[in-house]
Amino acid sequence: METQISSNINAIKQKIAAAAQRAGRDPLSIKLMAVTKTVEPERIGTAIEAGLTMLGENYVQEAKDKITIIGDRAQWHMIGHLQTNKAKYAVKLFDYVHSVDRLELAQELDKRAGQINRKLNVLIEVNSGEESKSGIEKTQALELVRQVAHLPNLTLRGLMTMAPYSDNPENSRPYFKALRDLRDDIDRASITGISMEELSMGMTDDFEVAIEEGATIIRVGRAIFGKRQ
Ligand SMILES: *Cc1c(COP(=O)(O)O)cnc(C)c1O
Repeated sequence: METQISSNINAIKQKIAAAAQRAGRDPLSIKLMAVTKTVEPERIGTAIEAGLTMLGENYVQEAKDKITIIGDRAQWHMIGHLQTNKAKYAVKLFDYVHSVDRLELAQELDKRAGQINRKLNVLIEVNSGEESKSGIEKTQALELVRQVAHLPNLTLRGLMTMAPYSDNPENSRPYFKALRDLRDDIDRASITGISMEELSMGMTDDFEVAIEEGATIIRVGRAIFGKRQ
């Protein structure tokens, strides 16, 4: 049965394909993450049935409750700010943490992942613009990348950012381009033990611009599930 959620997903997939084509990219190189904060498990289940298996959550406790219900039918990504004292829960719950923005957090995640004998995929979150407090400053990102590369239980997969809120998606473009340029700088530094294949950028209002600028993971909530309460 065609639900609102599955028709939303189809519409997004068509926009992904069109944006990829404009940029001369393979649409299969772009992964659509369903951002599920505040969304009830039943509606998340509908998105999974429609083929989305990468889910993004912002809060550890909320994710824990949902993972208990939904489990490994999906891959779980932490995209919200993570307090260091929550790292021990995060390593048990998530496949990826996109919001690593300081060495202290990376070290704690590494230690806790090691204690339960697993490797955690991480992305470094880079700050885009003064009004947002999340993310490391761009000028300090390469240093953090070098440090994370040494942590044995973390696998560094790429970079994440969130453009400042704007009603014009074109305003996000310079931030997305800057993230891609930073990724290219990191590639040129030839640091061993990392694979910077992921650029996690673009949300409901600006994912098409993000794709044009090289996003490999777009994080979409409202365009799939409708307005949050
Ligand atoms: C909420 C959120 C999203 C999704 O935002 P929408 O505008 O609903 O698509 C993406 N990334 C992060 C980090 C978020 O907190």
